[in-house]
Amino acid sequence: MIFENVTAFRNAGFKPKVCIVGSGPAGITIARKLGSAGIPVVVLEAGGGDWSEESQDFYRGTTIGDPYFDLDITRLRYLGGSSNHWAGWCRVMDAHDFAAKPWVPDTGWPIGRGDIDPYLDEVHDILDLVQFRPDVPISDDIRWVQLIKSPAVRFGEKFHDELEKSSNIAVVLNTYVTELVGDGTKITGARLWSENQDAGTIEAEYYVPCTGGLENSRLLLWSNQQSNGGVVPNAAALGRYWMEHPQFEGGNAILADYDEFETDDSKEVFFSPSPEAMARRQIMNFGVRLIEMPYGGVKQLIANLACTAPDAAEWVAEKLGQNLRCAAQLYVGWEQAPVASNHIQLSTTEKDHAGIPRLELHWKKSELEHRTLLEGLRLFGETFAAKNLGRVRIADWVLNGDDYPTDQELAGHHHMGGTRMNDDPLKGVVDRNCKVHGMANLYVGGSSVFATSGQCNPTTTITALACRLGDHLSHKIVA
Ligand SMILES: Cc1cc2nc3c(=O)[nH]c(=O)nc-3n(C[C@H](O)[C@H](O)[C@H](O)COP(=O)(O)OP(=O)(O)OC[C@H]3O[C@@H](n4cnc5c(N)ncnc54)[C@H](O)[C@@H]3O)c2cc1C
Repeated sequence: MIFENVTAFRNAGFKPKVCIVGSGPAGITIARKLGSAGIPVVVLEAGGGDWSEESQDFYRGTTIGDPYFDLDITRLRYLGGSSNHWAGWCRVMDAHDFAAKPWVPDTGWPIGRGDIDPYLDEVHDILDLVQFRPDVPISDDIRWVQLIKSPAVRFGEKFHDELEKSSNIAVVLNTYVTELVGDGTKITGARLWSENQDAGTIEAEYYVPCTGGLENSRLLLWSNQQSNGGVVPNAAALGRYWMEHPQFEGGNAILADYDEFETDDSKEVFFSPSPEAMARRQIMNFGVRLIEMPYGGVKQLIANLACTAPDAAEWVAEKLGQNLRCAAQLYVGWEQAPVASNHIQLSTTEKDHAGIPRLELHWKKSELEHRTLLEGLRLFGETFAAKNLGRVRIADWVLNGDDYPTDQELAGHHHMGGTRMNDDPLKGVVDRNCKVHGMANLYVGGSSVFATSGQCNPTTTITALACRLGDHLSHKIVA
């Protein structure tokens, strides 16, 4: 069932056991799992069935620190959430991404890749993915990895008819959850704002905010403030350890043979380091994306190489007229260390139309991140040279440690952390089952629970964790 507003929903007399807040990939996946187990669930969606300027306005906020996207641009507030404009790049976080990196504080998850593996077949169906091939080591340090470009499933479109026909799932549009009301042990209701006014409360047995990797923190921070700690009793980590995947063009390369690597239509090839290489260089995970350059770019690159790297130019000259195929741009995206000071807080001056403080994001890249970028490119270049696969030129700004360029991609629109998973309530907000520490009936869905970010795009892992949480809740409720 899909209702246009909360009045229509109330008129239908539907009694939910679970209240999910938000209809993005996380919310819809959890709802479908519960619905298929016969559990009545309501999905409250702040936006309507389509994009609107009025709805996006609630997402405005401020970023303090490094340059970042406008907060109302980097996400979408309507049915299907940000899946309405995601690019569809998919990969599940690696087993080593869940493990602690002893050289970086606060890394490591209480669960491992084995905990989400059982859900990957379902994830493939949900995201319309083919099977991933295993990684191919090209040296002890570097692996040729696969990211699959899925058809970028729009959750609101793909599952629209299924949701509309479902008798166990009620999606309520234009219904903004402004606050979860809690007494320090459980949530007792969700306060609503609909059609520009207060719309009372809704009650269920369980509550699962799935409002995205920025908004989950905002909702819980505000709710906790309103109830003097009654929603997240252990709030030391709430809003903290926020992470992105910074992304920049870090150099370029001449390749002996691009066909060495099978590419998809986008002609992009991906590499990442082995865990041993990360440990040896004491860096975070990273992904190098090679994108084939147009011919004019090749000529320019050879000219640059002749001036700056004569050895490489010699190698190129040798290859010219032989099997030199092309040049490529090197984009690097990397894992940010989880740092408590990268955090979300409530604005003390700005409020949205419902009177809820707007979001303030405090975000800065650290020295470890520059080292990850530089050492990562060195590792990659050394492997390519040693294997005679090509020659890499690292951009001057990376080598010199200059400021990050401001006219590039900046980051991935991947919003992670803020309600991180940790067994210790002082170090995390949710436990290994995504339940808020100290609360009997409050769970969190989405990448805000990520304890670390790995190097790959998050939505495949978000969807797997959502299947796992849906499964967990359905067993708990049915039992
Ligand atoms: C331009 C772009 C490209 C991207 N490309 C990729 C990619 O290639 N691969 C990848 O893995 N990821 C990509 N992403 C990230 C991906 O879109 C997100 O990881 C994913 O959508 C997160 O899903 P979610 O369900 O956790 O949150 P969202 O998709 O953000 O959904 C949250 C939902 O909650 C609703 N909501 C928010 N607050 C409230 C409230 N208080 N009450 C009620 N409802 C509320 C919102 O309206 C929204 O529908 C991209 C993102 C962007 C912006």
